[in-house]
Amino acid sequence: MARYTDSVCRLCRREGVKLFLKGERCYTDKCAIERRNYPPGQHGQARAKFSEYAIQLREKQKLRRIYGVLERQFRRYFHSAERGKGITGETLLVMLERRLDNLVYRLGFANSRAEGRQLVRHGHCAVNGRKVNIPSYLVKAGDAITVREKSRTVARIGEALEASQRRGIPDWLEVDRQTFTGRVKALPVRADLTTPINEKLVVELYSK
Ligand code: SF4
Repeated sequence: MARYTDSVCRLCRREGVKLFLKGERCYTDKCAIERRNYPPGQHGQARAKFSEYAIQLREKQKLRRIYGVLERQFRRYFHSAERGKGITGETLLVMLERRLDNLVYRLGFANSRAEGRQLVRHGHCAVNGRKVNIPSYLVKAGDAITVREKSRTVARIGEALEASQRRGIPDWLEVDRQTFTGRVKALPVRADLTTPINEKLVVELYSK
């Protein structure tokens, strides 16, 4: 499956905000946004004027990049959110939050969504006791996400759990670090999602 393999710090610099794509490094002064907070490339420091379309496009790209989803799959999420009940933008955000790789990151088993994706892909995680190796698997309310027993000695999972104590976990989740088990207490609502995104702009872009 296709995925983005270039420098992820370039993505943050393009969007002008921290997208927290690199784990612990994002919290240090080595972060590229701290050092060079302007878009990458030869004309990165040139003054730019943004059209309405460009603003909507940047917001969509920002959201897509935060969750590490490529365009085609992102569009599928959008259409599925559009068909669902409720406000399209909010449904889209909740759907992205329900991805298993995101949950593995949110619960503190990984330092970034990319790392979460890799843990899932490599078969380290289970949902309700069954191994799941699909990062885009959508978790439901009440589901239990565990690190499988033979994977609990993996050093970077331990390190991530330690680091996550500093970050904390969202209210709609709970985690037992002793048993490497997390649970979705309830699906999040918009107020639970602190991602700095204006989802209305994304909806406007795709509704043109
Ligand atoms: Fe973005 Fe993290 Fe790189 Fe900073 S260190 S630019 S937050 S990916």
